[in-house]
Amino acid sequence: MAVKKDYYEILGVPRNATQEEIKKAYRKLARKYHPDICKKPECEEKFKEINEAYQVLSDPEKRKLYDRYGHAAFETATPPQGGASEGEFAAFGGFEDLFREILGGNIFERIFEEAAFGGRRRSRRRAYRQPERGEDIYHTVTVSLEDAYKGTVLTIPVDRRVRCPKCGGRGTANERTCPQCGGSGRVVYQTPFMVVEETCPTCRGAGVIAEACPECGGSGFVIKHEEVKVRIPPGVDNGTKLKVEGKGHEGRFGGEPGDLYIITKVEPHPIFERRGDNLYVDVNITYPEAVLGGEVEVPTLDGDRVKVKIPEGTKENDTVRVEEKGMPRLRGGGKGDLVVRFHIDVPSFGWLAKLTGKEKRIRELLEELQEELPKPERVRRREV
Ligand SMILES: [Zn+2]
Ligand SMILES: [Zn+2]
Repeated sequence: MAVKKDYYEILGVPRNATQEEIKKAYRKLARKYHPDICKKPECEEKFKEINEAYQVLSDPEKRKLYDRYGHAAFETATPPQGGASEGEFAAFGGFEDLFREILGGNIFERIFEEAAFGGRRRSRRRAYRQPERGEDIYHTVTVSLEDAYKGTVLTIPVDRRVRCPKCGGRGTANERTCPQCGGSGRVVYQTPFMVVEETCPTCRGAGVIAEACPECGGSGFVIKHEEVKVRIPPGVDNGTKLKVEGKGHEGRFGGEPGDLYIITKVEPHPIFERRGDNLYVDVNITYPEAVLGGEVEVPTLDGDRVKVKIPEGTKENDTVRVEEKGMPRLRGGGKGDLVVRFHIDVPSFGWLAKLTGKEKRIRELLEELQEELPKPERVRRREV
């Protein structure tokens, strides 16, 4: 195995360099060795090296891994070098990759962490993973306008990711001391020139080896179906986000669970149109009602009825507001208004005659009305 140069050495920065210092050092070197600037063949190699070092050290997560495991952190399944049996190792390497995908982490760290928490110092290096908060779950529900008005309680089916009951979230089974390093996490070997000590390739420094938990396949989590009761408060609208604390996915490394968010959608209603906190209702009135004014009963969303005055001389689309008969306000209390929109109903004579059976009388009345009424100005002026 060719000895790889230390990333810090490549960039020429100390191990405790800040991200800013790393960036600066990289820029300086990249300007010097960039293939467009330096045409020597060794520059290309050097440039590659710089980039590789920067990719790791500029990413805090990767840098942490590198600090802990060196180059081994970024190698996949090294061939076994004695010690653990081939089957064991293959299983291990396989699910480590799985881990990287699922958790973005490294199973060795987790075993490490367990060892550290267990109080048994299996290695000189101790790893500690910050607890990670679980992800939130989003769920959309559709409610009727009546339910949005009154509020309701819904049972929401949720598939939550919870800690595996079999392995307690560790993802491992059959943990045992690494046979290659005897639990120290380090191996020492002799080359013709020197004695080399390096991280144990079998356990990668963890001191323990394990198999994937058969219950969760190594992820440490299983999916649990739950029915969560959620109170939908009066006044929800399209896109209202309601939070149910702690009902999201459970966190990694003992982190707290995420939250469940319920997003509401409100069904359109056959009578009421909602605009914010106000409700609109369309009401038909007759021509005499429009001219003389009058009174009409209008339904409200709570199932009641209100009497509404038709003002004298009401025109098409004129509105009247009834306060506090609209939607409840989600925040701040109180209710919006009910807006009554008038429409003048113009039936045909034929239809009226048939409906009432008083063809002659209705014709007389209408003709009389036509004679008595002054004609309006025929051409309307535009409002400019
Ligand atoms: Zn498990
Ligand atoms: Zn080992």
